[in-house]
Amino acid sequence: MSTDADCIFCKIIAGEIPSFKIYEDDDTFAFMDINPANEGHALVIPKEHAADVHAVSEAAIAATVVSAKKVAAAIDKTLQPEGLNLLQCNGPAAAQSVMHFHMHVLPRKNGDDLRLNWGLEPGDMEAIGQLAQRIGANL
Ligand code: 5GP
Ligand code: ZN
Repeated sequence: MSTDADCIFCKIIAGEIPSFKIYEDDDTFAFMDINPANEGHALVIPKEHAADVHAVSEAAIAATVVSAKKVAAAIDKTLQPEGLNLLQCNGPAAAQSVMHFHMHVLPRKNGDDLRLNWGLEPGDMEAIGQLAQRIGANL
C-alpha cells in the first residue's frame, strides 16, 4: 500500500501522530477532526495515500465511502444531529488543506450557518476525545 512519509494523514494512520481514532479496517481509518466545524466532526480516509479524487483508486474511494456510511450511522446514534454532510474537497479553491484524500462526516444543526470554507478553529481536545469513545462504541 502506498504511503507518503511527509503526509500528516499517513503519519496518523501509522500512529506517528496521535489521533482520536473511532474506526479502522484493512483499507480505511476514521478519526475525529481536531478543528471541528461542529460537535462530532470526523474524517474518514483510505490507508492508501492519494492526494485527491483524481488520484485515489476506485477500490480505495469505494472503501472510504462504505466506512463513511458506518461512521455517519454511529455519529447519528451518538449525537442525533439535525442533519449530516458527507463532504470531500479537492484543491485549494475547494478548501482542501490536507493532500490525502478524505471525507468529512459533518453533523449539522439548524441555523449553524456553516459555509464550505469554514476556517480551522482548534477544538476542546478533552471533549473531542470523549466523543471519539462514544461514537466508536456505536460502531
Ligand atoms: P480539508 O480542508 O483538506 O478538506 O480538511 C482537512 C481537515 O483535516 C481539516 O478539517 C482539519 O481540521 C483536519 N486536520 C488537519 N490536521 C489535522 C491533524 O493533525 N489531526 C486531525 N485529527 N485533523 C487534522
Ligand atoms: Zn497520506
